[in-house]
Amino acid sequence: SVILGIESTCDETGVALVRGTTLLGQGLATSMGEFERYGGIIPEIASRAHLESFLPVLDAALHEADLDLSDVTAIACAAGPGLVGSLTVGICAAKALATSLGLPLYGVNHVIGHLAVDALAEGALPQPCIGLVASGGHSNLLLINNIATDIVELGGTLDDAAGEAFDKVGRLLGLPYPGGPHVDRMAQSGTPDAIRFPRGLAAAKDKDRYRYDFSFSGLKTAVSRYLAANPLPDDETARKQAVADICRAFSESVNDSLSAKAVAAARDNNCDTIVVGGGFAANSRLRELLVERAEAAGVSVRFPPLRLCTDNGAQIAAIGAALVEAGVAPSPLAFGPDTAMPLEQISVR
Ligand code: ATP
Ligand code: MG
Ligand code: FE
Repeated sequence: SVILGIESTCDETGVALVRGTTLLGQGLATSMGEFERYGGIIPEIASRAHLESFLPVLDAALHEADLDLSDVTAIACAAGPGLVGSLTVGICAAKALATSLGLPLYGVNHVIGHLAVDALAEGALPQPCIGLVASGGHSNLLLINNIATDIVELGGTLDDAAGEAFDKVGRLLGLPYPGGPHVDRMAQSGTPDAIRFPRGLAAAKDKDRYRYDFSFSGLKTAVSRYLAANPLPDDETARKQAVADICRAFSESVNDSLSAKAVAAARDNNCDTIVVGGGFAANSRLRELLVERAEAAGVSVRFPPLRLCTDNGAQIAAIGAALVEAGVAPSPLAFGPDTAMPLEQISVR
């Protein structure tokens, strides 16, 4: 069977074709460039861009896969969580295709797609395993008993997501939007231990109650207090180093929490694999620190290749394929966008 996946939760329009765990072809467009001057996404512009991009992106995916629409056997689209207008465009396109071609349609969870996509790179996930989703909107630990049917949410951020915190600190430091990748790059030339910022929810009183939870907003406040007390120097070289040192200490705090808690979740639940997903999975320090700590605990870590970490159609097609394989019933055609789709809901039933 050939699954066509459609992603449109935010500012990426993605379409991909998958057979089993093989990615046959994909197309991708983004309206991110439009938002640099606003410093954030304007939902109406993103929705309009999805409308304009959908057909060219669909053609690109079919062309790369060397397939025709008549080869497709099921369709999956992101049903949530995300922006209501963006989601609506993808869902309408998916329903139009499914209805006209007479194919089953699955409305699926975008965030679970960030984890499911790893199967396209390294084969099916060992189950149970721990999922760490770290993106612009999420930082969660999940127990994946079965990627198509059984996911338990262990915990997540109480405030900002990891990517969101990076973006906000990037803005505080005057780095371009979105700040995440810039903060990551600057951190690499920061002096280790020049500054130390606090870890959220690490206090003894929080250790049990918030064992699998994160909090990054206090850390962001610590960065802005530090900046107020230590203004950036005017000299360009000195300024660059000061920014790098702050990025380094900030990145260390975020990644210390993410990696320590992910490894604890794996140990507690007898899982020998952690799969990481979401745009923040591109973070270089997370890749180092988590692998180091997981290895020490006898746990292996899987990161999707960089191009599959940020939003794309393959993540949606990957869950679609898992749902078909598991024999899960398609979604009733009447579903609409679920902007706050719960993480334990893998597809619309
Ligand atoms: P969600 O999946 O929760 O709905 P989203 O789709 O907006 O959110 P993604 O596209 O998965 O999020 O990820 C984008 C986020 O990842 C942004 O916040 C971006 O700054 C961050 N990001 C990307 N690369 C890096 C990096 N190397 N280091 C830190 N953050 C990064
Ligand atoms: Mg995005
Ligand atoms: Fe995403």
